[in-house]
Amino acid sequence: MDYKGRLQRVRIELCKNRVDAFLVTHLPNVRYLCGFSGSSGLLVVGERQNIFFTDGRYTEEAREEVQGARIKIKSGKSALAATMEWLSRQAGIRRLGIEASHLTVADRNLLSKSLPRSAKLVKAPPIIERLRMIKDSDEIAKIRAACLLGVDLFAKLLQVLQAGVRECEVAGKLEFAARKAGVDQMAFSTIVAGGPRSSLPHGRASSAPIPARGFVVCDFGVILAGYCSDMTRTVHIGSAPGDERLAYEAVYEAQQAALSAVKPGTAIGELDRVARKLLHNKNLSRFFTHSTGHGLGLEVHEAPRVAAGQAERLQPGMVITIEPGVYLPGKFGVRIEDTVVVTERGCEILTPCSKELLTV
Ligand code: ZN
Ligand code: ZN
Repeated sequence: MDYKGRLQRVRIELCKNRVDAFLVTHLPNVRYLCGFSGSSGLLVVGERQNIFFTDGRYTEEAREEVQGARIKIKSGKSALAATMEWLSRQAGIRRLGIEASHLTVADRNLLSKSLPRSAKLVKAPPIIERLRMIKDSDEIAKIRAACLLGVDLFAKLLQVLQAGVRECEVAGKLEFAARKAGVDQMAFSTIVAGGPRSSLPHGRASSAPIPARGFVVCDFGVILAGYCSDMTRTVHIGSAPGDERLAYEAVYEAQQAALSAVKPGTAIGELDRVARKLLHNKNLSRFFTHSTGHGLGLEVHEAPRVAAGQAERLQPGMVITIEPGVYLPGKFGVRIEDTVVVTERGCEILTPCSKELLTV
């Protein structure tokens, strides 16, 4: 991974924003800039030096993983306490950038007390989040591997999906197979929502049995070597009645239309508009209650948002999901989701797996 290049790009942005040093507290951002994958660490990106702070539990791991930054550990002290102690001696820092979305009020107050009088905290713009939107080839390879594993796992899920089996058992089978394949962890709580529960867009697998008839929404993702996958398929138990079949076809067409619109230069909000319009034509848009997708990488939800009105334009290397759905409360729900990477001409679907209505 190109940590040096990433740190350099951050430094250029800091300069533009007249920030002397940037305190990075969001762990995925810390990982992106210096490679640390543990659960406690802060990174100060400065004009001349970068310093990584962690605690004694991560001494060995930090030495193995951290690149492009000096490692500081104060025995018996938390990473934040060690950072504050160091900052208190830095007379050269006048403006210290903080990640406003990733720092508690309590920690901010502690920090501001520890700074020299001449220094002040400033809310930095989402510099790292914007850099992370465009994936390099190493990252795309990792996301592709995670997504292909996801496709394999779906085949495993189908082996156990049938009426009478509890949703949590179906999810468990998939998660066990994921563990055996070497994932770091699941990217989010696996969704297996059958029958009327399929109308819950985030129906985590419950102890309810899969009913004898109806849709089952299966939405799952893994984290493999740090990078996420995300895909949804909706299958039907027993043959689908007309209204359910029509809803499935409408979602399928909406997803296809949004996928076809993915290419560099397109405003991201346009993908949402295209999907929503198709559902509107079928009188279903009021049941499409979430946005069309999201960026994905080190985190399962990251920039850019694929939502109405987003003026940001697609660029090669962006990885996003396209996941329209309709949810008829108390009746049924359908969602189809792929993860794609924007290419020079359009997009590559990273979750290649049939989307024809599957009946089991
Ligand atoms: Zn998903
Ligand atoms: Zn998603």
